[in-house]
Amino acid sequence: MKILLVNPIIPYKFKMFDYADEAGRAAIKRRVLVGPPLGLNELAAVVPDEDVIIIDQKAELDADPNFDFESHLIKELENFRPDIVGITCLTSQYNSVLKMLQIVKQFNNKILTTVGGIHPSSCPEDFAGSKADIISLALGKYSFHQIVKEFKQHGENADFTKIPSIVINNGTSLHYTKSYKEVSYKDFKENFLLDEVIPNRELTDRYDYKIPHLDKRVHYLSTSQGCTHKCNFCYLWEMTHGRYYYRDVESIISELKLMDRYPIIRFCDAHTFGDINKSKLLFNRIIEEGLNHHQFIADVRTDTVIKHPDLMELAVKAGLRVTICGLEATSDEELESYGKDNSIANIEEALKTLNQLGLYVSGNYIVRPDYDESDFERLARFVEDNPIYHSGFTILTPFPGTAQWEELKDEIVIRDLDYYNLTNAVTRTKLPEEAFYKQVSDLYAHSGRMTEKYFSMYGKYKLSGV
Ligand code: SF4
Repeated sequence: MKILLVNPIIPYKFKMFDYADEAGRAAIKRRVLVGPPLGLNELAAVVPDEDVIIIDQKAELDADPNFDFESHLIKELENFRPDIVGITCLTSQYNSVLKMLQIVKQFNNKILTTVGGIHPSSCPEDFAGSKADIISLALGKYSFHQIVKEFKQHGENADFTKIPSIVINNGTSLHYTKSYKEVSYKDFKENFLLDEVIPNRELTDRYDYKIPHLDKRVHYLSTSQGCTHKCNFCYLWEMTHGRYYYRDVESIISELKLMDRYPIIRFCDAHTFGDINKSKLLFNRIIEEGLNHHQFIADVRTDTVIKHPDLMELAVKAGLRVTICGLEATSDEELESYGKDNSIANIEEALKTLNQLGLYVSGNYIVRPDYDESDFERLARFVEDNPIYHSGFTILTPFPGTAQWEELKDEIVIRDLDYYNLTNAVTRTKLPEEAFYKQVSDLYAHSGRMTEKYFSMYGKYKLSGV
């Protein structure tokens, strides 16, 4: 079987570009995430006997703003002539994915098309009437393996109805198969998670993912699935129906041993520290195996830092250099409204602890479209009082399929999903739009100044090699 896997473009739709000054534009550009489509590397690995290629159109567009994804896809189809095309899809990739599915079927109607990832999982009904044959829900390694096996054996007569956690598009209706919700935690972990499968990273190495200012190669590594929390703006916990699975530590270590060519490794998890004992074991094993020559990037909740500072210290010894923190808010009330289950006191204390450990903290705040001048002032003051390496700002975006979407769907003014990239106000702004984006742009300029403040206060803690 010839299988083409695609990471689609994320369209460059930034309303702030209409209003921001140069500094604001540069800040938005810095938001572009550099990294591989690990989910596709994983899918390739579950079908090792097949002929698989991965194209990363997002990376192509990041490298060339004039990149034309449609003609690029046609060329790939002509050259490779796949039997199956699998496309991953975030919300902001949805419109492009619909176009790509049309192109694939126009090229050859017999190609089996599958889509997966966050948007298909949260809104499978958005693919009714589309050219996707199969919509894969939630974690897709097992179902993808089964889809390929069935199609290889039976071709056009394949019967996918026994494969769990997929939706079969019959053209006029959607047929849902057995949900993973019906599978026990133990059964899912043992039979469906396939977390011992080592991703096939070679298939995307030609894109040479690098952290730009360090000029060092980066790749992602998954240590867990799901989350221990249920924030209302997030869909990651829903991908495992609210369950949290930590990988076998020795399997993570085996994978790390194959990753020498990537000096920087980002733990690509919803919650890397969701099982404290296993996290400790992992970092101890990394040190024992001498794998701490890597520099690690990980997301961490600030309440975890407060409860387990010793774990953070250990992680630093194991090579942790950058922590990404979803700070979200500057008041307990706001935190509560997001279901974050955390406090401002925790955030303030945790940022100091992380700074003193020499970690570079990249913290993110949510800017609500209903902010007025006083809210922006409050946020700027908080950033100033709690300096970190980088303070970033996303604009509150209710993603379809989340609880927040249900709460705010009547306030949506932009329905074009191209804009759902966290930099646009898709609900009505309280301030005039221009004033709103000017305030966001000013926040970024302020953040740059606070980086200097951070260095003047915490530069002495800087870790070597960073
Ligand atoms: S802690 Fe992070 S990953 Fe978990 S539900 Fe909240 S935002 Fe999502």
